[in-house]
Amino acid sequence: MKLEPVIGLEIHVQLKTKSKMFCACDNTGESQPVNTTICPVCMGHPGTLPVPNIEGIRMAIRAALALNLNINQHSKFDRKNYFYPDLPKGYQISQYDEPLSQEGYLDIELGDEAVRVGIERLHLEEDTAKLLHGEASTLVDFNRAGTPLAEIVTKPDIKTPAAAKAFLQELRLIMRYLEVSEADMEKGHLRCDANISLRPVGESKLYPKTEIKNLNSFRSVEHALQHEIERQSELWQAGQPPTVTATRGWDEKKGVTVLQREKEAVHDYRYFPEPDIPPLDFTAEQIEAWRADLPELPAARRRRFKADYGLSAADAKYLVEDRAAGDFMVRVTTALASELEGDVKAAAKLATNWIVHKLAELLNENHLRLDQLPFSLSQFVGFLMLVARRQVNSTNAQLLLRQMTATGKDPEAIMEADNLGQLAAGDDDILGPTVEKIMAANAEQVNQYRAGKTALLKFFVGLVMRDTKGRVDPKTVEEYLMQQLKGK
Ligand SMILES: [Zn+2]
Repeated sequence: MKLEPVIGLEIHVQLKTKSKMFCACDNTGESQPVNTTICPVCMGHPGTLPVPNIEGIRMAIRAALALNLNINQHSKFDRKNYFYPDLPKGYQISQYDEPLSQEGYLDIELGDEAVRVGIERLHLEEDTAKLLHGEASTLVDFNRAGTPLAEIVTKPDIKTPAAAKAFLQELRLIMRYLEVSEADMEKGHLRCDANISLRPVGESKLYPKTEIKNLNSFRSVEHALQHEIERQSELWQAGQPPTVTATRGWDEKKGVTVLQREKEAVHDYRYFPEPDIPPLDFTAEQIEAWRADLPELPAARRRRFKADYGLSAADAKYLVEDRAAGDFMVRVTTALASELEGDVKAAAKLATNWIVHKLAELLNENHLRLDQLPFSLSQFVGFLMLVARRQVNSTNAQLLLRQMTATGKDPEAIMEADNLGQLAAGDDDILGPTVEKIMAANAEQVNQYRAGKTALLKFFVGLVMRDTKGRVDPKTVEEYLMQQLKGK
């Protein structure tokens, strides 16, 4: 029997507002001492009233628009009732039947293939407190209680673990471009539960699914889904496919999912409209104004980098992932193109080569960010001009850039001081004596060459390059040597 996976994701994104969703508490509680960013409102004391944070709503709407969701002109908050130690009020303010937004999608690139993943909804809610499990007891840190969350639910459109991972990575990038969240999975800013079931290929029915929890990295999402596909396949092949919905936890160390609970019926949260917060009503104009305010999103930027600058898919991906590097490439290319007779693609190619492949490595080695570069943009452009004019060869150019990173000095000054420049084509001062010396020391090879063994030319070129520490253009050396070796 041929089976296919049916995967859906439920994602929580922590929004980086200054204050919490319904009170004025500092929203940087994760880096503060436990239980210090709390107040009677987020602790659910009797008589307190929640006031929605307009910035949280704005951020959620930006996220929804970027995911092509329809913003509902009318939506409301609801109470989701359940009892748990991490929930100070005994209910969570969330959105139930009238969410902020519905019916969207995100296109992701998988190799050369574009895959569209439908998105059911994005709604706003508040986060719970954090439970700290010790050996003998469990402690509660309420700093996180009341932090704004955007909950995103995809349709069961995802067909492979790799696609699930790619979806999450693109989502993280979008949240960062929108500046609504750091979306760091390891820090819990982006949390994901993955639902998966299998079905025989050709069927459209959905079978009871498994919900996988404790996924705190892109890798664990991919691995847990792979494991679950294998586990469920075995059940199907044995003629015993899962008959009830189950929740399983991912055990990263053992690489297996572990059964947490099976549920026959849907949990009853006794949702009802939050009586203390009026509904959210937006005009169409307001929504359009928010849409117009969206920045260029990663996918559009990748397309633009490929079309306008002629970048390869890999370079475009890199420069979109690292937004600062992408901005830097654009600025360098603009400055460089005016020096290269307006040839934007040639300028972009040169700039990208050095930014992606060499500068990134140097920054990494020196633990520097791009905005901490010790040299200016125009110094970097000057450096690239030396390379473009072949005034320095590629080996020495790397040394030169290394020196610029270390000292912040002008490329021309370093080239001069460290003798890194390419010698001019007809520079007999150096080339002449060097070739003469080498020919004298290798008289036998000279005779062999003259007797017809012309393959020895490479041997001589190598010696000259070594003697001049690569400062001469190999082509020039070759031509000069051929002349000299011909004999008088
Ligand atoms: Zn508070």
